[in-house]
Amino acid sequence: MPELPEVETVRRGVEAAALGQVIQAVRVKRRDVVQGRPQAMAGHRLSAALRHGKQLALVTDAGPLACVHLGMSGSLCVEPASTPRAKHTHLVWVLANGQELRFRDPRRFGGVACFADRQALHKVRWHALGPDATTITPADLHRRLNATRRVLKAALLDQNLVAGLGNIYVDELLFAARLSPLMPGCAVDRSQAKRLVARMRPLLARAVKAGGSSLRDYVGADGASGAFQNNHQVYGRGGLPCPRCGQDLSAMAIAQRTSVWCGGCQSVDTTQELGD
Ligand SMILES: [Zn+2]
Repeated sequence: MPELPEVETVRRGVEAAALGQVIQAVRVKRRDVVQGRPQAMAGHRLSAALRHGKQLALVTDAGPLACVHLGMSGSLCVEPASTPRAKHTHLVWVLANGQELRFRDPRRFGGVACFADRQALHKVRWHALGPDATTITPADLHRRLNATRRVLKAALLDQNLVAGLGNIYVDELLFAARLSPLMPGCAVDRSQAKRLVARMRPLLARAVKAGGSSLRDYVGADGASGAFQNNHQVYGRGGLPCPRCGQDLSAMAIAQRTSVWCGGCQSVDTTQELGD
């Protein structure tokens, strides 16, 4: 499932290829993946591609916009109108420059919700999300974690607590910060919250730079795969030796997701003297 770095890669691709273009028409191929009135964007210029957590918003200069959630297998690609549309293309924005912005989603866990303006988007959709993982402050993360008794893995997956992280980057983040996924959120102290934020920003920045992680269906707006999966330290590596201390990595379902971590260097005890 695309997480923040993958969605940011798509956002940058759309921005580079389609920003400033007038949308000539919007074609809905499959109505049940679309909410609201996508046709309201027709005739207007694409003026911004925004992201909050794992959600994107394609905004026109007149106000009407589309909020895109890629779900498990969704993609947003900019292709020449002459290129045959791939199977499972559900929504198409026809651009004035001969290109098309195409939303495709074979498994249909994603979708597009259309709003009259940014105010409506924030009120209905983005207001409930936590701060974006690239901008959350240590103090805010500390306060939010302290309000929950859930374990750290489950808390960081919660989009209403912090937006953008999923299974891959939470496992990688907890490894980088040397914190156990099983530690209760309310037990995280100030210096540990500071360390989480200090590790989170460069981790996400490196993943964006690599074009995200491609595991199954994910591709950027130009159809290219990401390469960050080659840099995963623990994700998907249960039973293999820890790259830091050599102990076998543990794997267990936490919050219904397979979690991988090192019981040797991510135990609660080893973090106490580390400081920052
Ligand atoms: Zn280790």
